[in-house]
Amino acid sequence: MSEFDRVYNFSAGPSQMPLWVLQEAQKDMLNYHGTGMSVMEMSHRSKDFQAIIDRAEADLREVMGIPDNYKVLFIQGGGYMQFSMVPLNLLRKTKKADYIVSGGWAKKSAKEASKFGDIKVLASSEDKTFSYIPKVPRSEYTPDADYFYICHNNTLYGTQWKELPVPLDDIPLVVDMSSDILSTEIDVSKCGLIFAGAQKNLGPAGVTIAIVREDLIGFAGPKTPILLDYKTYADNGSMFNTPPTYAIYIAGLMFQWIKNVGGVKELQKINEKKAALLYDAIDASTLFTCPTAKEDRSNMNCLFVTGNADLDKKFIAEAKENGLVNVGGHRTVGGMRASLYNAMPYEGVEKLVDFLQKFDKANK
Ligand code: PMP
Repeated sequence: MSEFDRVYNFSAGPSQMPLWVLQEAQKDMLNYHGTGMSVMEMSHRSKDFQAIIDRAEADLREVMGIPDNYKVLFIQGGGYMQFSMVPLNLLRKTKKADYIVSGGWAKKSAKEASKFGDIKVLASSEDKTFSYIPKVPRSEYTPDADYFYICHNNTLYGTQWKELPVPLDDIPLVVDMSSDILSTEIDVSKCGLIFAGAQKNLGPAGVTIAIVREDLIGFAGPKTPILLDYKTYADNGSMFNTPPTYAIYIAGLMFQWIKNVGGVKELQKINEKKAALLYDAIDASTLFTCPTAKEDRSNMNCLFVTGNADLDKKFIAEAKENGLVNVGGHRTVGGMRASLYNAMPYEGVEKLVDFLQKFDKANK
């Protein structure tokens, strides 16, 4: 395989990157903009790196429409570390919080938060293998909760919130957007905190972005480890200690790419088209079914099964031979999962659909 023979990579993350981003990084690899060094070799205290992180933040603010009273923080530790940081920082008055458990990540997050406060799982869809987004009447929300938590896109189970829930009064909404940030327009002002690990729509693993309303910062208890306090990042421009410089630089290129392709609005349109193409093909097939509730289907992670583990294996192997890689479902779920993040082009989904239709005919 030559360096130009790239596959369509349907991995759930780390996942496919836009070619433009990789090529820009390649151009800059040995000598970033005449500095004579790679971004990897640059001090985080240098003017050049400061310009990189400043531009990344400004571009993210622009593409997401982040209001001025929100901080953008670049953190390490992945989405999982946010499962601890959120309760450590936001359980600030009553130490109560409401969680909607719509998938495995929300479940893990609620479990972690339970170490620090009185966590109420308002609803869970585990009874049906997380195949739908549970609905909860507002009358069941905790009136004095410190925050209300959801996972916007359930990477493992292929469901996605189509509309944000509205917590009671001014209770902040916390949203895990690890697997759908920047794929769909979202009103940041309706959220208290949004976080996302980078390795799906933001770039390479290593950096996690938290977008936090300023009035929610500064409440971590005195025993909170210093790197788990949002204030540490907010007060030091995310450079209290060495940030993941290269991952931030690539994330910055991702934001530039998003601007180049017309912004999140345009990407959302393409993502909706991509997902519809694949779901329609699954629904029209003889062999395949999609296990998720139609109205909650994710535009990012599309699950489908034949109901026969051997046939699933055959599909995954033959897809790979056709340059369509990583379509196997998560190890806990099985079947197939095609992740259609921003960087997956429409043609990649067309190729997958074409293969799926041929497989369907050949194996009836
Ligand atoms: N939240 C969601 C929605 C995820 O998909 C993942 C991982 N894929 C996580 C949290 C955990 O993130 P990490 O592996 O970066 O800690």
